[in-house]
Amino acid sequence: MISWLAAAIGVAALFGLNVGSFLNVVIWRLPRGGSLSDPTWSYCPQCKHRLGALDLAPVLSFLALRARCRYCRSPISWRYPAIEMLTGLLFAAVAWRFAGAEDFSAAADIFFECLFLATLICVFFIDLEHFVIPDGLNVLGLLIGLAHWAVISWWVGRFHPLRSALAGAAGYAAVIYGIGLLAYVVIVGVGAKRGALRAGWNYLRENAADWAWIAVYYLGAMIPPLRRLAEPPPPLEGASAAEIEADEDEGGMGGGDGKLAAAIGANLLFPLWLHSLYYAVLIGVVQGVAALFIKRRRLGERTAIPFGPAMVGGALIALFIGHPLWDWYVRHYWPLTAGPPAPAGLAEKNIKSF
Ligand SMILES: [Zn+2]
Repeated sequence: MISWLAAAIGVAALFGLNVGSFLNVVIWRLPRGGSLSDPTWSYCPQCKHRLGALDLAPVLSFLALRARCRYCRSPISWRYPAIEMLTGLLFAAVAWRFAGAEDFSAAADIFFECLFLATLICVFFIDLEHFVIPDGLNVLGLLIGLAHWAVISWWVGRFHPLRSALAGAAGYAAVIYGIGLLAYVVIVGVGAKRGALRAGWNYLRENAADWAWIAVYYLGAMIPPLRRLAEPPPPLEGASAAEIEADEDEGGMGGGDGKLAAAIGANLLFPLWLHSLYYAVLIGVVQGVAALFIKRRRLGERTAIPFGPAMVGGALIALFIGHPLWDWYVRHYWPLTAGPPAPAGLAEKNIKSF
């Protein structure tokens, strides 16, 4: 007999493999200024030949074609099947982690966490390669979190979950912008002698303007009269790594990290977003030390290290094992303060903690 849990994991894994195939398209097209719907079909980036259903079967087509395009024989990056398998694995892990409750809230948790993870996978690979996080992905992540907890709020008939999502978005973003502000004041204001107060004011003004633009631009997608108020963003195409890096040097910790923090906070809620920041900093330190050793040989003139991938890694750790890790830590180091073990479901946990 197949249990509900095994069925949920299997369906999620198969679904994830196919979603991963779509994420490959997003990761390729978004930073290159391409539209996701034009063309609606997938094509080989080398010869532009339209790909058929057989060329698009996740992982299998890569193996069957022996990592070469069927039409021009140019090599296909191992990253495509890797992202498909990663998405399948993560979706299966979400089902395994959140299928416990066997009710509507578990189904909602699985659905929204999968959407959230799909967004994070795109953020991870785009930031790693291009040193930038497209605003659309951060806004999407934020909306997914708010929608998730709005649905759970409706299900339990209480406002608390949605309020926690709003607080999580504001809380995590405030911490990241706070760190960014401090770094900017120290590096630009004091280090480059431009005046600490003026530097701080510039940082806050630019990031506030950024959020105002986002609000108007994305509302404009739904309310046409607003469209004239916000210029579309310049395409990332053409901006070299060096240019983006120069921009980062000007702006300190990229505003993209603050926006990503809002998205992660809205999904994970407190205290998990705080746990995720802790793991992100650990990953960032490892990244920094590793970069010290491999920078000269492999990264060339790139000196900036994107923090987005570390934030994504921290969010994944917090989402899947944040609570068990925290329980273990408390029992190990402060045994007298340890409470009862945490409930399994995310929604259940959120409801019980208020
Ligand atoms: Zn080709």
